[in-house]
Amino acid sequence: MPQFDAIVVGAGPAGSTAARELAAAGARVLVVDRVEFPRYKACGGGIPLRTERLLPFPIDTVVEDSVSLLDVAYRGKHRFVRDSDAPFAHMVMRDRFDALLLDQAQRAGAEFRPGTVVRSLERNGAVAVKAEGFEAIADYLVCADGAHSPVGKMAGLGEGIAECAAWEVEVAAPSLRRRSYRATALIELGYNPWGYAWVFPKRNVLSIGIVLPPDQAPDMKDHVRAYLSRLGLEDAPVDIQRGHKIRFRRGDEPIANSFAVLAGDSAGLADEFTEEGIYYAIESGRIAARNILRGLGGGSLANYQRDINREVMPELRAARQIGFMFYGMLRRVPRPWMVASSKFPYLWDAFFAVQKGESTYAREVGRFPVLPGIAARMLR
Ligand SMILES: Cc1cc2nc3c(=O)[nH]c(=O)nc-3n(C[C@H](O)[C@H](O)[C@H](O)COP(=O)(O)OP(=O)(O)OC[C@H]3O[C@@H](n4cnc5c(N)ncnc54)[C@H](O)[C@@H]3O)c2cc1C
Repeated sequence: MPQFDAIVVGAGPAGSTAARELAAAGARVLVVDRVEFPRYKACGGGIPLRTERLLPFPIDTVVEDSVSLLDVAYRGKHRFVRDSDAPFAHMVMRDRFDALLLDQAQRAGAEFRPGTVVRSLERNGAVAVKAEGFEAIADYLVCADGAHSPVGKMAGLGEGIAECAAWEVEVAAPSLRRRSYRATALIELGYNPWGYAWVFPKRNVLSIGIVLPPDQAPDMKDHVRAYLSRLGLEDAPVDIQRGHKIRFRRGDEPIANSFAVLAGDSAGLADEFTEEGIYYAIESGRIAARNILRGLGGGSLANYQRDINREVMPELRAARQIGFMFYGMLRRVPRPWMVASSKFPYLWDAFFAVQKGESTYAREVGRFPVLPGIAARMLR
């Protein structure tokens, strides 16, 4: 039976990053994914600029556009546009972006086995990973298997993590329309109790989607259809449409044990202001690799959860507080809140600074000691 230092389940940003860092440090790593790559992933593909700092290679070959304008509206009204002067986020299609990250992991020495659906785990000192017609063992396991995290559950981890629902359509809009959205991220607010729809510009399509609380998942398609119609895109061909969960870790939910760690969406590491998770998937992939290397050197994996709690959770907590406050105000006083957000540049300038890596949500929340108290009373 093939034997590895670590097996990584899931070749998304979290898994490929963990695999690359492990292989680069000399570990024997196998990455498995249930599907062939490149694969489509339901995702807006908006990547904050600060993500680049986490990666030791350029991503410009897969960047479809870079956005510096934020065009915000409330149910088609109270629209305003804020300019960050320089790009605050890159736009990618996840098939190409994830393939690049996986390629870098393979170049570093990780082995990849696509089309391998992990069905069960067995513990006998090492951990055996079982798929149909395939079995391998390793000292450690990285569950980077996304928001449903079937393998994380098999490892007994991830219970109690909150979730929301999101829906994505790739719209082959006429080229003139696509060009009119260049360098711009459109955000449509006004969904109750919270949530937003977006238009993210790509080379050949517009990525249009919505994120809502989980109990509103059945309405997502109708909302997107209505949004397309408001944009005058109701007749544009839709290439792909697909939904997926996003998970949010809010407390100290278990994400590590003696043989396995959860990374990325599997661990619920997405922020509750923008609902984005790619940055945190890559960050947690790095932290997973660091802790597994410690484990291989005789240390304990339990420090992974401590490291995530120290290095990632303060940012996610602050993003949640901003999100609760923002959507809470929007629900109570929509018009004054839209006018205030458009007139006072602070909120969006701070957002741009976080996206660019010039600030953090935690630092911005720290400037307003009353914000956590207000946020706690607002929503969810
Ligand atoms: C509609 C939508 C829009 C979004 N937009 C954005 C955005 O604009 N920006 C942003 O930053 N984030 C966005 N997100 C969140 C983002 O997609 C995730 O945070 C990110 O994909 C997490 O990466 P990951 O590596 O943890 O998991 P994933 O990218 O989901 O990868 C998990 C992998 O595990 C594999 N897998 C699952 N089960 C098994 C199994 N049993 N055996 C083997 N392999 C398995 C899957 O095939 C998959 O390839 C969005 C999410 C949704 C749903």
